[in-house]
Amino acid sequence: MSCIFCRIASAEIPAEVVAQDGYALAFLDIAPLADGHTVVVPRRHVATLEEMPPAEIEALFRMVAHLSGPVRRAVGAAGSTIGVNNGAATGQTIPHVHVHIVPRWDDDGAGSVHTIFRPGSRRPVGEVGKEIRKALA
Ligand code: 5GP
Ligand code: ZN
Repeated sequence: MSCIFCRIASAEIPAEVVAQDGYALAFLDIAPLADGHTVVVPRRHVATLEEMPPAEIEALFRMVAHLSGPVRRAVGAAGSTIGVNNGAATGQTIPHVHVHIVPRWDDDGAGSVHTIFRPGSRRPVGEVGKEIRKALA
C-alpha cells in the first residue's frame, strides 16, 4: 500500500488524529499552512470527489462540518478556509480525496479562494449554465 493517506487511515504510519469514524478520518497536516490545519479523508482510497458514492461524500462532509467549529475555537481563529484540490491539475499532490480545513485570522495575510485565479475573459454564464444542466441530465 503506497498511498500515504491509506497508510495513515490504517494506522500503519502515525499522524496527529483528531477525529475518526467508520468512513472518515481527520488529522493535522504535516506541513500546516496555519496552526490547526486539518485534513479530512475518506478511509477508502479514492482519488477524486466524482468517484465517491453519495453516502461516503455525506460522511466525509459531515465530519468536516462537525470539525470546523472545534478546530477554529481550539486555535482561537476567526474563520477557516475549507477547500479541496480535486484532481492533479488543481495541485492535488496526494491522489486520495482530502478536505483541507485551514484556520484563518483577519490579519493573516492570506487571500480568499478568489486569489488563486488570474483575471481574464470567461464564457457567458448562460451558455456554460446550459451545458452544465445538459451534463446533469
Ligand atoms: P494537496 O496538495 O494534495 O491538496 O495536499 C496534501 C497535503 O497533505 C499537504 O498539505 C501536505 O502537507 C499533507 N501531507 C503530505 N504528506 C503527509 C503526511 O505524511 N502526513 C500528514 N499528516 N500530512 C501530509
Ligand atoms: Zn489512499
